[in-house]
Amino acid sequence: MSNINDVIIIGSGPAGYTAGLYAGRAMLNPLLFAGYASGGQLMLTSDVENYPGYPEGITGPEMMMELRSQASRFGCKIVDKNVDSVDLSKNPFKVTVGTEEHLAKSLIITTGAEAIWLDVQNEAVHKGRGISTCATCDGAFFRDKEVIVVGGGDSAMEEATFLTRFCSKVTIVHRREGLRSSRIMADRAQSNPKIEWKLNCVVKGWLGDAENFEGAVLVDTHNNTEEDFSCDGAFIAIGHKPMTGFLNGQIETDEQGYIIWKENSMTSVSGVFAAGDVVDTRYRQAVTAAGMGCMAAMDAERWLEDNEH
Ligand code: NAP
Repeated sequence: MSNINDVIIIGSGPAGYTAGLYAGRAMLNPLLFAGYASGGQLMLTSDVENYPGYPEGITGPEMMMELRSQASRFGCKIVDKNVDSVDLSKNPFKVTVGTEEHLAKSLIITTGAEAIWLDVQNEAVHKGRGISTCATCDGAFFRDKEVIVVGGGDSAMEEATFLTRFCSKVTIVHRREGLRSSRIMADRAQSNPKIEWKLNCVVKGWLGDAENFEGAVLVDTHNNTEEDFSCDGAFIAIGHKPMTGFLNGQIETDEQGYIIWKENSMTSVSGVFAAGDVVDTRYRQAVTAAGMGCMAAMDAERWLEDNEH
């Protein structure tokens, strides 16, 4: 059992690192558990063009390295391990990391969200071998191949556009006529000659066996007709779900598992704060996550002062 930390931050996207930066500058000696795959979703993003201060854009991993080193510079101790569970039943809170237990007067949860799978017939067989949720990670395996991207949001547009760097053809499969994505990202995909469209279509299942991925069974939502659509790979980009399982129901969430803010950035447990995609069902941007990380660290600092910790 270690001594009692003022603040432990769990999660290492823009929200976590910004919370670490602010808590560090507030002399709270923050301890940040970054997870084994540190950096969050931006580690899987190619170019970030909409984070203020980078007029030429920056890659997601580069940006995360910059945020990490900025947090470290102000005394945030960063450990690349996953938190297994927390005990919020009394203060100091207990944070379990493998065989270690750490105590903290306040916690900031910034664990973000993870990709949702379609969960249709034959999906488990092809996960990671034909079907992926990350074009940045797996796109290069599909050089000169034909792939589909499922979804109609910014992620789908971004993934499809990125995949045209490698693939000979990318078909976007979306369940309705209208796209959810922003205009600029939709325009970019719509003007790309390598991108084709299958609108009003859903994926019913996947074709092939464990050794060979052969395509998708598509169903037209207007007339219910089925089509075996041949392709070499598929990328699913239908959104994300919050990573709140490790909290084991100790903090109030909505029905999808997103943490609910009660007072400023504080959760239903006094002294526990949350920031970034783990609370955000609306904006989900790197810049908004960073802003929330700042808010959570400032709220934690004030809460520690008010509670004379
Ligand atoms: P999203 O905006 O929630 O879009 C998800 C898409 O998947 C929607 O088009 C949805 O269809 C479709 N979908 C959901 N469940 C489905 C299912 N079971 N079967 C078939 N289709 C399904 O998610 P996102 O694209 O991941 O974006 C999330 C947030 O991140 C957004 O705020 C976005 O702006 C942001 N983002 C920004 C950038 C950027 O600016 N560079 C890049 C990526 C993401 P419906 O439209 O019919 O609901």
